[in-house]
Amino acid sequence: MSMPGLIVVGSGPAGISAAESYREHGGAGPVLVLSADPDLPYERPPLSKEFLRGETDDVALHPAEWFTDRDIELRHGHTVDAIDVDGHGVTVDGERIGYGALVLALGAGPSPLTVPGGERALQLRALTDARRLRSAAADATSAVVIGAGFIGCEAAASLAMRGLSVTLVAPDRVPQEKRLGADAGERLLNFVTSTGVRYVGGTSVEAIDEDGVRLDDGVTIDCDLVLAATGVTPHGELAAAAGLQMKDSRIVVGADMRTSAADVYAAGDVTFAFNAAAGRHVAVEHWQDAAEQGTVAGAQAAGADATWDVVPGFWSTIGEATVKYHAWGDGYDVSRVAERDGGFTVWYEADGTAVGVLTCEADDDYDHGETLIAQRRPTPV
Ligand SMILES: Cc1cc2nc3c(=O)[nH]c(=O)nc-3n(C[C@H](O)[C@H](O)[C@H](O)COP(=O)(O)OP(=O)(O)OC[C@H]3O[C@@H](n4cnc5c(N)ncnc54)[C@H](O)[C@@H]3O)c2cc1C
Repeated sequence: MSMPGLIVVGSGPAGISAAESYREHGGAGPVLVLSADPDLPYERPPLSKEFLRGETDDVALHPAEWFTDRDIELRHGHTVDAIDVDGHGVTVDGERIGYGALVLALGAGPSPLTVPGGERALQLRALTDARRLRSAAADATSAVVIGAGFIGCEAAASLAMRGLSVTLVAPDRVPQEKRLGADAGERLLNFVTSTGVRYVGGTSVEAIDEDGVRLDDGVTIDCDLVLAATGVTPHGELAAAAGLQMKDSRIVVGADMRTSAADVYAAGDVTFAFNAAAGRHVAVEHWQDAAEQGTVAGAQAAGADATWDVVPGFWSTIGEATVKYHAWGDGYDVSRVAERDGGFTVWYEADGTAVGVLTCEADDDYDHGETLIAQRRPTPV
């Protein structure tokens, strides 16, 4: 870059939306996106769904000319090693590059599986991981998926739909019972098992060895491939080393995505962000919210006014079923299920107000729920 402009670190939805929004809000300086990922920006949601099932190879976020049209320079396969917030510069491959504004969109990576043999398990975050998993699945007849969060459930279903014999193991009696409650968990269990997956709940993995996956009840499940889908850890190290205010491994930002350092913004999975509608900081790990936060960060970096004030949410597709979820994501007191024609809705409440809604084939509830949550009104009786 000839003069200090905008540097974005990370080419996920938060980083690319930040660069796009900077341009849309009149940001005229050079824009450089630096990303450790060797691939051009892509969509992660299909990696556990259509891509894993072999139904598509096309996961590109934008065609190459989208970046040239907007005069956004993209350097992928380059890891930023350090940030000098006082001197307004980053170091990449030993080169120091100055910035006028910096957006940290560092995302998160799979949390390691800390059991003996844990390194034998495949992971699923990047396109390189997805290619490895898909080619392992092509040579396999059986798989164990560890962890029944949304990515674990989606991947297990996709592997079963490919014809593998799949066992999904997790500590909860039914998938995500602790996070979403028993009613929701029973329904997720139905979705995943209807694709042919066998679910083994109430268990934890003790080790992985050449015989397979050993559970804490002594049973070993023989399999050709193991996928660990045991959650993610935000990539906060770079920001922590630069002295930014952190909450655990997340970068603390206001509703304007400003960090504690001048001209440094952060967006996406790596943040602990103040949501103006919630009136508190929340941690979210969803595609659309990462993009929304990136849009706010890019607008602010261009000198425009923008605030993160939407209710977080995501969609997940497990086999043939799609569930949609809006929530602050930091807990609830009461959950209530309502049957819907061909689907269901689970309402979540805390202190008498709506804090979440999970729906399947109930889009009116999904939309209504978003309004109730944003306005801090009670859930419908
Ligand atoms: C398989 C899968 C399926 C998913 N499905 C859904 C779904 O259906 N719905 C949904 O809402 N969400 C889904 N998600 C979650 C969603 O993809 C994430 O919430 C989203 O990608 C977060 O965006 P981000 O930009 O914050 O971070 P990321 O997408 O993780 O991007 C972070 C970027 O930062 C780069 N980076 C990190 N450190 C450095 C460094 N030091 N130097 C340079 N670059 C660096 C990384 O290489 C990467 O490019 C899914 C995730 C996965 C893995």
